Amino acid sequence: MVFMVVNHDDVVDGVRSCCIEYDDDVLTLPKDEGGLGISKLSDVNSSLLLKWAWRFKIQQGSLWRNVIEAIHGGRNMWMFLPLNRSLTGCWKNLVSSINQMQIGGKQVEWYFKGKPGDGVYLRFWKDRWLGDTLFKDRWPRLYSLESNKNCSISDRISHSGTAFLLGPGWNVWPSTVEEISEMNDVNYMLNNIRFVGSKDVWKWDEEGSNHFSVANVKRMIRLDRNNNMTHLFKWESWIPLKINIHLWRAEMGRIPTRLALQRRQIVISSTICVLCDVNDEDCNHIFFHCGFAFGVWSIIRRWCKLDYVSFDDMEGLLKFYKHIQGPKWAKKLIRGIVMTTCWAIWNARNKKVFDNVSPKVQEVVALVKSLSFLWIKNRSKFKSVLWKD
Ligand SMILES: [Zn+2]
Repeated sequence: MVFMVVNHDDVVDGVRSCCIEYDDDVLTLPKDEGGLGISKLSDVNSSLLLKWAWRFKIQQGSLWRNVIEAIHGGRNMWMFLPLNRSLTGCWKNLVSSINQMQIGGKQVEWYFKGKPGDGVYLRFWKDRWLGDTLFKDRWPRLYSLESNKNCSISDRISHSGTAFLLGPGWNVWPSTVEEISEMNDVNYMLNNIRFVGSKDVWKWDEEGSNHFSVANVKRMIRLDRNNNMTHLFKWESWIPLKINIHLWRAEMGRIPTRLALQRRQIVISSTICVLCDVNDEDCNHIFFHCGFAFGVWSIIRRWCKLDYVSFDDMEGLLKFYKHIQGPKWAKKLIRGIVMTTCWAIWNARNKKVFDNVSPKVQEVVALVKSLSFLWIKNRSKFKSVLWKD
């Protein structure tokens, strides 16, 4: 059968209404952290913009960089990237966006760190090449006396035997106590560094990585944003997506139980659980506290030899794998079976609500066993598992 989309707005509205109940940041978490692994467009955009800054830094002498410098470099007073604010255009937009970007509480320019070789290219005061602070900020009094504020490292230092010292190049020779103290600090620092003689290069200064890549920056931006979000749910590959998504939603309390529907102002005749007719139906009741669920779990636990573990809410269920003894594959199997059980209980509840078919504990257990076996045989790497196992 072929469906014709008559009105695209309806489709967009439909997708939007499905997604709107989820926090954008949850959808964009990677799967192994409990999200859906969808790239956030703004992260991709920021990372691609930053790539231009990176290329500007590393492609010294290239034509496009020379053109930008000629147009925006002015009197060569620029710091991180040249920008002539009186001009409009894409470079201005790009630099303005990059100047507003922060990762981990730091301006993104902080992550650009020069690694001096011969010291010809890196600027002594204005590029970060040693420590966390630009030298112009670290030694402001000396910088104010500097005659060539754009000088390179090799311009600024002179040899004294095997050691390096600040060479002459002052508008006024440092004379006050503070100025001389700053100069002693710089000389002490220079004494302790060695220049390797190869060309100066730029490094991406991130803990554990010196490699700039768009994917890397995207990951950093996302981690920065999601720092405070914790998800216990882990995706399990050998069971179908619908079961994974069911539990992913359950962790966030997004299962449309009767109490959840009532909270969303949907009119329903009763909030009592249809399986036991005793308590209100919410996530923890339907999956753990309900007599019906209890019956299912008792058999499943015995089947999986999990008599010693107990869980009575979603958090407990998502955490208990950590306490299971045994090899990794056994944990994966048990995790999948537990997730399938939750889905089967919910399925039984839906059959009662929508088809008025009263479920039986044994039938739900049988369904969990047969589906698990089917998926293990066809979807997992553990094809040698036998029914009797
Ligand atoms: Zn119940």
